[in-house]
Amino acid sequence: MTDSDLREIILTGIGVSPGICIGKAYLVDVEGVDIVEKYHISQLHVHSEIKRFKLAVKRAKNELRTIIENTPDAIKDHVDILETHVILLKDKLLYGKIIETIETDFINAEWALKKVVSSLKAMFLNMSDPYLKERAIDIGHVSDRILINLVGSEKINIATIDKRAVLVAADLSPAQTSQIQLERVKGFITDKGGGTSHTSIIARTLGIPAVSGLDHATKSICNGDLIIVDGISGNVIIHPSEQTLVTYEERRIEYEFRMAALDRQSHLDAVTLDGHRFMVMGNIELPEEIVSVLDHGGDGIGLYRTEFQYLGRPDYPGETELYDKYKDVVEVMAPRPVTIRTLDINGDKALDRPIESVEDNPALGLRAIRYCLKHPNVFKTQLRAILRAAAYGNVRILFPMISGFEEIQEAKAMLHTVSDELKEEGIAHNRDIEIGIMIEVPSAVILSDILADAVDFFSIGTNDLIQFSLAIDRGNRQVAYLFNPLHPAILRLLLQTVDAARAKGKRVFMCGEMAGDPLHIPILLGLGIQEFSMNPNAIPLAKQTIRSLNVEEMRIFLSEILKEKTAQAVMERVQRRFGQEGGHGV
Ligand code: PEP
Ligand code: MG
Repeated sequence: MTDSDLREIILTGIGVSPGICIGKAYLVDVEGVDIVEKYHISQLHVHSEIKRFKLAVKRAKNELRTIIENTPDAIKDHVDILETHVILLKDKLLYGKIIETIETDFINAEWALKKVVSSLKAMFLNMSDPYLKERAIDIGHVSDRILINLVGSEKINIATIDKRAVLVAADLSPAQTSQIQLERVKGFITDKGGGTSHTSIIARTLGIPAVSGLDHATKSICNGDLIIVDGISGNVIIHPSEQTLVTYEERRIEYEFRMAALDRQSHLDAVTLDGHRFMVMGNIELPEEIVSVLDHGGDGIGLYRTEFQYLGRPDYPGETELYDKYKDVVEVMAPRPVTIRTLDINGDKALDRPIESVEDNPALGLRAIRYCLKHPNVFKTQLRAILRAAAYGNVRILFPMISGFEEIQEAKAMLHTVSDELKEEGIAHNRDIEIGIMIEVPSAVILSDILADAVDFFSIGTNDLIQFSLAIDRGNRQVAYLFNPLHPAILRLLLQTVDAARAKGKRVFMCGEMAGDPLHIPILLGLGIQEFSMNPNAIPLAKQTIRSLNVEEMRIFLSEILKEKTAQAVMERVQRRFGQEGGHGV
């Protein structure tokens, strides 16, 4: 039977990396090793069974080490997750408990592994902290790897796939994704996962189309099936008809043509039709990402999320380590601005801590500036590193999760103390830098007229502002349909913030995800947002969108938008005027 004899099936998931690809499915069957036999062993065999288990762990560790060493430089950052897997292999809760279970229950190593892993996964999944919840996924990956070595299943070796395939998997681990060779893999789809998983982040870094959260893709697709992956809409089409193939081939060519055209123009300034220039910057998590910001025509770094240097390690980074990293970024970007946000830890990005200290509601807990003010030594170390790096270029400092005036005062007092100390010690630094705050807590909007007195600029973090003002957990898929930046309440909060800042002669930037969507840009221009910061890949389209608009017209358009009563009505009005994808005019 050929693909054309089969019925076309459409699956819908979450588009986690944009683009379209068409190719033959290649199933990465990690679930296959799930069929685990249980059998009892005699006391006599306990020792050899434990030895067999230890050997499997050793092999798993060697495999991980090889993958880490062979990971391409472009995605080297993600080896941290693999290093965590290496540590997990020997974790007492896993390794120690499995050995203990073999000894006490007299069962085979595979069954002991399955038993311990199920209870460990359940324990982590029951935790409310999303970071700890995610550890259940890591435990799953580590256990699959040990199991493959125990049962001797055929190894999955993505690195050796020799055709241009589309990978289909229940879940791709970061280790597997990091083995993807661009010339061999066109894209991938997974049953599990969502837009913020490490795997999706790697897909976006590699620039290949990907769809996650498909639930049953591995059950509906067989090896060699022809499939279309649409990473923009989140659709996956199995056995496409001739007509569908033609349509998607045209869309693919058009998409690639559009991206190439955008990239060619990404170094042009974002100047509107009526002559206003806007800075379009990149958000980065790791210093290496500045390359992508520059390649995509970024005018600077609007948000450097510094917390990633603190994750997945038992200690805090020292001043020199931080200073070296910040200095690299600042020097390469100079004279463009680099906005260094101080540690925003313990919301969805938690430090490694004992389980007892995990909060029930971390998004509202001791995170970000609250954490820093309670841990002055950690804060001061970071502030010293920032002021020292500031001697090498154009640095701005940004305090996250500010909810009231006193937090700014305390943070600024700390900054001055640190600066005085550096001066006394005769260490080169620059204390004359701009100070800003994230506007991401509703109380900061309400107080924005007062807060504006204390800072040089505001940067609006819509990801948290929407979460807190519309009461939507940003990581909860059940309420994701309510997470809408065009909600009239959000537009009013933005307007209030901009008006308050403007009255005090202060500038307002936006670094939340809202800033990178071409559908939102006409409204943001009308509001008077002065600088935009986003995922580096979104920069070319955002610049092009700005170049196609007229600020005066957008101000008038905004006054119409503000009369609408629902997010849906706002969206329809935007789409009526600018089309389905916004006003980028490409
Ligand atoms: C935000 O909240 O919008 C933001 C930019 O910060 P983060 O996504 O790191 O919380
Ligand atoms: Mg935030």
